[in-house]
Amino acid sequence: MSELHKFLFDGAPVRGALVRLTDGWQELLQRRAAAGAYPPPVTELLGEMTAAAVLLHSNIKFAGALVLQIVGDGPLKVAVAEVQPDMAFRATATVTQAVAPDAALAQLVNVHGQGRCAITLDPRGRQPGQQPYQGIVPLHDADGHALPRLSDMLGLYMRQSEQLDTRLVLAADAEVAAGLLIQRMPTAGEANLAGTAHAAESGDDAEEDFRRITLLAASLTRDELLRLDADTLLHRLFWQENLLRLDGSRVQPRFACTCSRERVAAMLRSLGAAEVESILAEQGAVDVGCEFCGQHYRFDAVDAAQLFLAQPQQPPGSDRVQ
Ligand SMILES: [Zn+2]
Repeated sequence: MSELHKFLFDGAPVRGALVRLTDGWQELLQRRAAAGAYPPPVTELLGEMTAAAVLLHSNIKFAGALVLQIVGDGPLKVAVAEVQPDMAFRATATVTQAVAPDAALAQLVNVHGQGRCAITLDPRGRQPGQQPYQGIVPLHDADGHALPRLSDMLGLYMRQSEQLDTRLVLAADAEVAAGLLIQRMPTAGEANLAGTAHAAESGDDAEEDFRRITLLAASLTRDELLRLDADTLLHRLFWQENLLRLDGSRVQPRFACTCSRERVAAMLRSLGAAEVESILAEQGAVDVGCEFCGQHYRFDAVDAAQLFLAQPQQPPGSDRVQ
């Protein structure tokens, strides 16, 4: 069963979260398998993105979707992981060329230096014209060297853009997508993605606490992160620390898609009657498949005609297909 655990280090201005996506992650991959399973390096990256998106959303108070997106210039064109406030997640990737079994991150998404990665906070019920908050995640360090891992990219982003010292350890395979987040708690008034403020501690002590705890986190191996249950993993890493588990805030992440026939209908209306009629003339019906969950929405000539007969007020956000 998928799990998310949040915790504090008593006496240190450091918080953490551990996520293990199992059943929901496997369902996501199974739904995808009908359209062709992902190559293993893509499964790994998409799983890491999904685990990271859950960790980042679990750490903020935000009534809307957190979307982590990579637009690549290599074999992987797009990868998206989206998490709702109730920890419902979905993710999809588009692969257009063969992927080497051992392809590294840069070989997947940043072959020509044109790859991009962004974090978007999309408020629920966004009004037309209201812009979501978007932050650009660097693919390179300050010296222009490609960052080898998604966790490095996100760590640099959190430090540069949100002024939050954050370390992530991420791993995924076809069974599990998992991640550990360790974050120095912000002081009052700091940071966009900050949650609660922590009373200021002496700077040196805080630095030493954070350094010690991130060193422990960095000792976590991929195999441990993927295979160990949460209790065993946290005990193995932090048995000498005073870990305070925030069990009251525990929410179970699950796979869920937000697509609906109404949203697809709104998208078709925005395409216009002429475009929809031309698809009908060519294909006999309009069939729209959701990239996230594989659900198909079919509109025959009668359904399509009804789309444009009654023109209800479009609900906010209806410009999005899924
Ligand atoms: Zn869907």
